[in-house]
Amino acid sequence: MSKETERVDEQWERVSNHLRAEIGEAAYQSWLKPMTVREVRDGRVRISVPTRFMRDWVAAHYVERLGAIWGDEDPDVHAVEVFVQPERSAAREKTETRAPAVKSEAGGNGYGGEIGAPLDPRFVFDQFVVGKPNEFAYAASRRVAEADTVPFNPLFLYGGVGLGKTHLMHAIAWHIRSRDPARNVVYLSAEKFMYCFIRALREHNTVDFKDQFRSVDVLMIDDVQFISGKDSTQEEFFHTFNALVDQGRQIVISSDKSPSDLEGMEERLISRLNCGLVADIHSTTYELRLGILQSKAERLGVQIPGKVLEFLAHKITANVRELEGALNRVVAHAQLVGREISLEATQDVLHDLLRANDRRITIDEIQKSVAAHFNIRISDMHSARRARSVARPRQVAMYLAKQLTTRSLPEIGRKFGGRDHTTVMHAVRKVDELREHDSGFAEDVELLRRMLEG
Ligand code: ADP
Ligand code: MG
Repeated sequence: MSKETERVDEQWERVSNHLRAEIGEAAYQSWLKPMTVREVRDGRVRISVPTRFMRDWVAAHYVERLGAIWGDEDPDVHAVEVFVQPERSAAREKTETRAPAVKSEAGGNGYGGEIGAPLDPRFVFDQFVVGKPNEFAYAASRRVAEADTVPFNPLFLYGGVGLGKTHLMHAIAWHIRSRDPARNVVYLSAEKFMYCFIRALREHNTVDFKDQFRSVDVLMIDDVQFISGKDSTQEEFFHTFNALVDQGRQIVISSDKSPSDLEGMEERLISRLNCGLVADIHSTTYELRLGILQSKAERLGVQIPGKVLEFLAHKITANVRELEGALNRVVAHAQLVGREISLEATQDVLHDLLRANDRRITIDEIQKSVAAHFNIRISDMHSARRARSVARPRQVAMYLAKQLTTRSLPEIGRKFGGRDHTTVMHAVRKVDELREHDSGFAEDVELLRRMLEG
């Protein structure tokens, strides 16, 4: 290594560490780590990144600051430039946290044409921790990403918030694009789809709107629950959907509800959605949470005592997003005060979050667990059906909502398809009565309660 390269490498080390301290570990891993300093000439530092998306992002957010920090290091330096160099030809040693190669000059960047939304470089298969609750959804996603022909259409991913739906969709997109940049993969939220469609309607160019989707090979629409109940958008979605399916294009959809539980969704659309593969992501288990924490800690490159990770896996149970947030807070705090991460410090830093997690059981969760337990649909919790087979579980759910949440009777009634508070009161009494006379029933209710308090 020449003296000059060595000097530049050392400067880069200091400059990037300086910025790392400013922007935090997550942003560092996503944006700075994949950078390679190519040359410093005439006071200009030239840095390559693997994708065009990264270049745009870095140029918009970090270049100026990098220039300033570097200028402090070395007064000769007065500018930093970022350009795209696909990963294949870039240095190999930094590959582990980087998004897969995207041949940006060939047209595949983080965006999918004009309609698509950018992809998060961290949301790749390599960074997805697989466990019992998500193994099916993961396998189905991989299958779609790796297949040469459409294996099932659509792939419908569903699961509660923060459980990895978007992560899996981006991972599919990254994977397909890196394998075959010619394939046109478009990822967007259902909200954006709706917004674009409404705008097209207003500007009288729905033809253009449709044209945009004509050349799409893989269409991914995230959070499709947003368009349920919005009739004209739904209609348009249905047509786009059918046209693409008929042409053998792959569709991937995510939602926080199963197709049958999407309220206000038309029957024919539901049955079309049900035609493909429906893969649900279940709530996390302790094992999965611990696995995710270990993986994230490793990626962050910080030493965290096993006891702390176990504690977090026990306490932060809502979803993965919250778990990640908690871990980041603990790490950031330790770095800020310059102390080792300990159990006490963790409890301290997270006390508000821990308190919230202790008492939060939502009516939605109760409805979901009770419906699953009695093998009825979640929508039956809101429906007007009075058959004993659904009415009884509904009463149990109302009862548990009264016992386990702080919601008032009218609030609970509203959550059950707009029922009156007297109906809830009646349900509570009825369940109490049944518990006294039917020990099997009492056990069921107790089991559900314990599970929810879990
Ligand atoms: P959703 O779209 O289902 O609401 P996301 O895909 O946005 O959830 O996930 C929330 C956060 O949790 C993201 O940062 C994601 O990377 C992370 N995450 C979720 N599941 C996993 C997993 N199995 N392994 C690693 N990270 C995960
Ligand atoms: Mg999402």
